[in-house]
Amino acid sequence: MPVVRAGLCTYCGGCVSLCPAGALNLAETRLLIDEVLCTECGLCISGCPTGALAERELPGTFQSRQRSCDIVVVGGGPAGATAARFAAEAGLRVLLVEKRQEIGSPVRCAEGINTEMLLRFAEPEQSWIASRVQRSQIATVDAGEAKTFGGQETGYVLERRVFDRALVEKAIAAGATVMLKTAIESLIIDDGAVRGVCASDGRARFEVQARVVIAADGVESRLGEWAGVDCLLRPSDCLVCAQYLLAGIDLDPECCYYYLGEDLAPGGYAWVFPKGSNKANVGLGVQADLGQAPALDYLLRFIEQHAWLAQGSPVSLITGNVPVGIPHYPIVRDGLMLVGDAARQADPLTGGGIANAMLAGQLAAQAAAHALEQGDTSETLLGEYERRWREGRGRQMERHYRLKEHFSAADRCSASFVRAFAVATVGK
Ligand code: FAD
Repeated sequence: MPVVRAGLCTYCGGCVSLCPAGALNLAETRLLIDEVLCTECGLCISGCPTGALAERELPGTFQSRQRSCDIVVVGGGPAGATAARFAAEAGLRVLLVEKRQEIGSPVRCAEGINTEMLLRFAEPEQSWIASRVQRSQIATVDAGEAKTFGGQETGYVLERRVFDRALVEKAIAAGATVMLKTAIESLIIDDGAVRGVCASDGRARFEVQARVVIAADGVESRLGEWAGVDCLLRPSDCLVCAQYLLAGIDLDPECCYYYLGEDLAPGGYAWVFPKGSNKANVGLGVQADLGQAPALDYLLRFIEQHAWLAQGSPVSLITGNVPVGIPHYPIVRDGLMLVGDAARQADPLTGGGIANAMLAGQLAAQAAAHALEQGDTSETLLGEYERRWREGRGRQMERHYRLKEHFSAADRCSASFVRAFAVATVGK
């Protein structure tokens, strides 16, 4: 029976169309072969564009050919793309490695960002702006009683799929090289210092030697742990999210809506972010240790209870978790820097992490460039990044974390929490 080499499969389904026995099934991102039905005719193998189907498991090959660069950036989200761009602009040889086959997809985001933070990194382009936000509305639902507060918010709802790609294109324009569908599997550590990564592109494993590794590998980050950093997320610091893009709803296309309520979304909140005139990202996040049911169940109930949302139809479903803690440990090691969600830098009150990820990417790239110029990539010099983060935006995140810890799920409808939340949403 043929084997599927998952690292190479691009889930196109082409092989399914060729199988005379109906033995293949594309289950979204998994190709399944029915052992009973398969006649081993091999037609699927000839119809696979990437060589993901083979007659038998090939022994894992290791390419002794090594790559080298000044900085290897792991992850092509906002943190990694921005780090790669600023490092390349500083004249460094940068390799950005992304395990997915497409930058920016699948999206795991409600796509809201504040104007001032966005403008620091990119001039808005029509291709990745879905809506311009001019105001917000916060509703609290406490023991069945609903109250609504009007708020000021100027920002954008992005098309992350296009936006993330635009950020990576900026890095490429600055001179960075990108590898797709290549996963980093471990770190090269020499005498306690990180000196590169081991990668696999589904065909072979190979090493990339680098003087600095920037770990921008998102909420599912493993790089810190591989370097001995205890970055395991506590359930109370994790917002479990589900979101539909709903079409066919009537809404103010310039308003972001927020809903707070202990039963509605314990420890988190629900949101409705407009994407044009009759579509919106409608989602919610529930604190992992407080949820009594999967986030998707809470979301379905939230939509059902709001007639203006229930009239819409879903065109996509996304799920994902947001780290809403702060790093209680160093985010820099000799030769290694953690940025973005990997460094738990999203806002503890709102879960907003795009702007913080870009800022951290920029600060990390600047510190790395300086350290490389001095010929010293130890924690001491790279630590300049961590100092600047903690003294600047990080201080605000620590304040938001204290507020998150201070208000219990039940207190989140209080006027003082709503005030703090309103301020945080403006700056996300
Ligand atoms: P990511 O964007 O997650 O990028 C990490 C990348 O690393 C991924 O592409 C991943 O494939 C890659 N990677 C991981 N491991 C490896 C590996 N071993 N090898 C190679 N590549 C690897 N933030 C906002 O500001 N506004 C919002 O409205 C908002 N809404 C959200 C709604 C939801 C449902 C969720 C889940 C999050 C939301 N966020 C929001 C948070 C925001 O999406 C993240 O904070 C942001 O994407 C973090 O950027 P990043 O670059 O650190 O990580």
